[in-house]
This record gives sequence, structure tokens and C-alpha cells, in this order.
Amino acid sequence: MTHVIRSPFIFYILLLLLSPRGTNRSWLLNVSNINNHKTERARFERVGFFYFKPNTPMKDHLQTKDWGLGLKGHVIIAGPCSAETPEQIEKVCLDMKKENMIPDIFRAGIWKPRTRPGSFEGIGEEGLTWMEIVRNHLNIPITTEVGNAAHVELALKHKVDVLWIGARTTVNPFAVQEIADALRGVDIPVMVKNPMNPDLQLWIGALERLHDVGIHKLAAIHRGFSDSYDKRFRNKPNWSMPIHLKREWKGMEVINDPSHIVGNREGLLETAQRAINFGLDGLMIETHHDPDNAWSDAKQQVTPAQLKQLLSQIDFKDTLGSENPSERLNDLRAAVDHMDDQLLDLLQERFSMIDQIGAYKREHHLTVFQADRWKFVMESRTEKGVSKNLSEKFMKELLYCIHEESVKRQEKQLREAAAIKK
Ligand code: PEP
Ligand code: MN
Repeated sequence: MTHVIRSPFIFYILLLLLSPRGTNRSWLLNVSNINNHKTERARFERVGFFYFKPNTPMKDHLQTKDWGLGLKGHVIIAGPCSAETPEQIEKVCLDMKKENMIPDIFRAGIWKPRTRPGSFEGIGEEGLTWMEIVRNHLNIPITTEVGNAAHVELALKHKVDVLWIGARTTVNPFAVQEIADALRGVDIPVMVKNPMNPDLQLWIGALERLHDVGIHKLAAIHRGFSDSYDKRFRNKPNWSMPIHLKREWKGMEVINDPSHIVGNREGLLETAQRAINFGLDGLMIETHHDPDNAWSDAKQQVTPAQLKQLLSQIDFKDTLGSENPSERLNDLRAAVDHMDDQLLDLLQERFSMIDQIGAYKREHHLTVFQADRWKFVMESRTEKGVSKNLSEKFMKELLYCIHEESVKRQEKQLREAAAIKK
């Protein structure tokens, strides 16, 4: 049985089968916006449940190594969420120097898109003058977020080296177009964070708007997606998005921003490592000399010393193996890894539903095992599985296994509740 359960493909199929009739399963595939229409679909090559665009031509954009900023390998971007005071900027720089933790690019937010008014909304233009401090101490390029044409004008006036477009801006094509128009004829690299919602076309669209006005030094940033249900993340990562972006726009680098994905310090390493495992091209990590007292995003920032420690723990090697697999094999493996992640997330959610059903049964003095329901689940799923070319034996084994675990969980709940009563 274990060999059955270990197979990611089988898990995946099962979960597709188990999702109730009418469920929108496109999120499992994460290709909703490319496989909606038959005509669209024809342009894609199907591999298992994934659609790939074969031989996507490389658009004539320039990768980070060609930005003229001396970047190579994985790009490390670090610096505070927000520029607060000149002393703060200086202290971060000095601590970076002391730790010999000099990033490739220094980040600092000057205009902060805060969810609610009343919190610190960025220091504004004055903060740009403090970037000289960074140049003097560290002599590295600086980057900041721009959200409109006025920001662009000021960032260019103060010679910011790289711009980024934030998640709340990428979501709005009017705003992105305004920024693109303000950048027409300017030679500056721009990084585009994913939109708040997992819409690959919106993300690509923002990159295209910039490309169309002649901004060719481009990169993307994966900072996760707003998800009010899943509390494990501030912004839930969706690793298939960068993979599909890379498939659709060959050579497009995607930097990962674990700070805004995780929202705390503890989970940074795991998420950063996963990003590297998936083949992402760099990390943007919020860094502050005194994180607890930061004016924004205090919970997720790390000190330069912590950043150094974190980066030293990351395995930047190609985890897809030393046998030098073909790009095709890498892609397929990355897709399978992603599916496993999705499957485990979905299994976790399914068992959390099972626990809720268990609580209901307990409240209503029902037995854990309900024969009619079990019969229905077995028969309907097996029938569905068989119609999808899965063997009856396999379907039954798999369903027994899942059902057994569900019953055990609910029975444990009953025992625990009884123990509390005593
Ligand atoms: C940030 O980088 O500080 C920021 C506001 O990011 P995002 O657009 O990802 O929320
Ligand atoms: Mn932030």
C-alpha cells in the first residue's frame, strides 16, 4: 500500500477524482488561464495534466547578468521594508559591512502601499536622498518600488538603479501602463512582482507592457498570493506560477521574496530553499538592523547577521541531480514536485474537513463509521476512477487507505473528548 501512496501521480489523480462535482479544479492544474478554450489549448503540448507551450521563442529581454550591474548567479536583494531615517539606512549598511553580508542589490521602500490607512505609508522623496549613504558604504545598486508615474519621475531623478512594481500595482493594468509610459525611452531594469491574485496572464501582461515601451532589462518576483483561508502564509506561494511564467517567457528570471510569502522570520529558510529547489533565480529578503522596531513589516525582517546565517544554510546547488538532466526532464520533475506540494496541501485541507465532520458527529452523538456514506464514497469514486483508466483494485486500495486514516482521526477525537468530560 505504501508504494501506492508514495506515488505523487496517484495522489494527484485521486484528489482530482475526490473533488466534488462542479468543483473548479483549475487551481490544481494552475493553467486555468491557458486551457480555457479549445483553440488556445491546441497551441499547447499536453504532458500529463500540464500544458506546455512548445519551443516558446525567447523574447529579446535582458537577464540580470546583462543589466550592466555586475550581477551573476543567484541575485540576492536585501534591505529594509521601508526607508525610515538616514540613521536607519546607515545602520543597516554598517551592519551589512560588519557581517560581510553585502547583497547584490539594496532594497528600500520609499512609498509603501499599506492595506489600511493610518500606518506608515513611506517616507517619500526625502528617503531617496539617503540612498547616497548606501552607495557610499556599500557601493551597490539600489532598488525601490514605484506605483505611479510621479514615483518613476522621482526615482529617476535620484538615480535609483533598478525599479520594482509591487503586487498591488501589477494587478492593475492602468497603473502598470502609466508606469510603462513614464519609462518610455529610459534604460533601467524593472522587476515585476506577481499580482495579488494568481493570474499568470496579468503578471505576463505587466512585463509585456514594459517590454512594449522598450524596457528590456526585466525580471519577475514571486511574492505569493493573497489567500484569506490558508493562515500558514501571509501570501501563499504558488510554485507553478513561476514555472509557467518561465515556460511562457523563456529566459525570464524569477526572484523569490520569501519575506512577503511567509510574513515571519521562522519560515524564511524553508520557503527560500524551496524557491531555489524549484529553480528560481534569486532572493529578495527584508533586512533591518533592528527588525522588531521596524516601521513596517517588523515581524518578517531579519538582521544582516541573520540574513548571513540564513543564506549560508541554503543549498544553492541544482537539486535536480548531478546527472545533468535535460531541460525537459528538469521541467517535468519540477512539475511533479509542484504537484506533490499541491497534493499534500490538499490532503491537509481534506483531513481538516474530516476533523470538522468528526466534531459534528461528536456533537450529534453519531458513530464515526457511517456505512451508507462509506459505500457511496467507495462506489462513486471507484466508478469515476475506472472511467479515467485507473484500475478498480488501485482505486479501492487508495480509498481504503484514506478512509482508514479519516476514521482513525475521528475516533481519536471522540476518545479525546470523552477524556476531557471525565
Ligand atoms: C515590499 O516589497 O515591501 C512590498 C510592499 O511588497 P509587495 O508588493 O510584495 O506586497
Ligand atoms: Mn515589506
